Amino acid sequence: MAITRDDVLKALSTVTVDRDGTTLPGSGRLSQVVIDAGNRVMFSISVDPSEAERFEPVRREAEGRVLGLPGVSSVLASLTSERGPNAPGPNATGPGAAPVPPRQGNSLPGVRHIVAVASGKGGVGKSTTACNLALALRAQGLKVGLLDADIYGPSVPKLLGLSGKPRVIEGRVLEPMEAYGLKAMSIGFLIEPESAMIWRGPMVQSAITQMLRDVAWGDLDVLVVDMPPGTGDAQLTMAQATPLSGAVIVSTPQDLALIDARRGVTMFRKVSVPILGVIENMATFICPHCGTASAIFGHGGARQEAERLEVPFLGEIPLTMAIRETSDAGRPVVATDPDGPQAKVYRAIADKLWGNLNGAPAGRAAPKIVIE
Ligand code: ADP
Repeated sequence: MAITRDDVLKALSTVTVDRDGTTLPGSGRLSQVVIDAGNRVMFSISVDPSEAERFEPVRREAEGRVLGLPGVSSVLASLTSERGPNAPGPNATGPGAAPVPPRQGNSLPGVRHIVAVASGKGGVGKSTTACNLALALRAQGLKVGLLDADIYGPSVPKLLGLSGKPRVIEGRVLEPMEAYGLKAMSIGFLIEPESAMIWRGPMVQSAITQMLRDVAWGDLDVLVVDMPPGTGDAQLTMAQATPLSGAVIVSTPQDLALIDARRGVTMFRKVSVPILGVIENMATFICPHCGTASAIFGHGGARQEAERLEVPFLGEIPLTMAIRETSDAGRPVVATDPDGPQAKVYRAIADKLWGNLNGAPAGRAAPKIVIE
């Protein structure tokens, strides 16, 4: 029999959140409960980041209670600092902009660096860049993972030519998929593409937290996270809740995209995540017939913008048929043509990125952290 929301709420009403015996559903901290495919339950618990440690046992208990219901196959419960539609929200301190709390520092065991690849808006080539950068870091001999956090438009399965479902190894821990020497996880492996479309911010955060923490990533030098595009609340919460070593902003050269990129830089600065650099994608168009380069979107804007914002500039990626065709065919260019001109561009950017991650003086300016 399919599980209902009432069944879940009943189970959760046995979980208390304080000494007075306030139940989880009665606390106003519970997000909407979503039941996917009849037996997979998802919800989040709204907390202030300072309460995260105290609420972790509550989260675990809640998850256990729901998992104990007959017919439930898996539960995804997470703590989130983004307020759900019904929650009074522990962050609500009255009108006006509340200060952004510092991000949580829970690192991921075995993973040395987590790097977000972000963009101010969709369609600038963020996922393509994240995937090829991950492969370029791999080509340096590093152990690399790629986490697709672009919940509404997961593209990592397609970019890496992967299909099928990841194996559950123990309890509810998933084994990452593998392609071209990368470990990869994407919501696209787990649910039907339409399902995530109805998720609200807290659900998205839950899914991402699970893909971070309940996946057997093993030892990694770097986990590249393909972030959801944009700079809204969901992205801010994610940037804050993920133990990021730094962020890379991908932009196209046009002015409009640069305004979005600027917002991206501001967003990461708000949560004290160092900007490792800006990448200009689709910088010049390389004609597939004659090889001539033309700057169809203008050129150099991202470099100037990086200088203005005092963040490192990592490099320019041309607009080429080879990049588009290989990405769309699941045969990323860095893996399939490792000695070609495109791979060389991505490798140079990956070198700078790795240098900046490890504090080497790469790029034009040292990462600067501004707490606003
Ligand atoms: P985003 O993640 O920002 O939405 P994608 O990585 O999905 O963008 O890229 C959007 C489209 O642009 C895809 O078809 C991809 O193959 C193409 N693309 C991305 N970067 C390049 C590039 N440098 N040259 C040619 N095509 C590109």
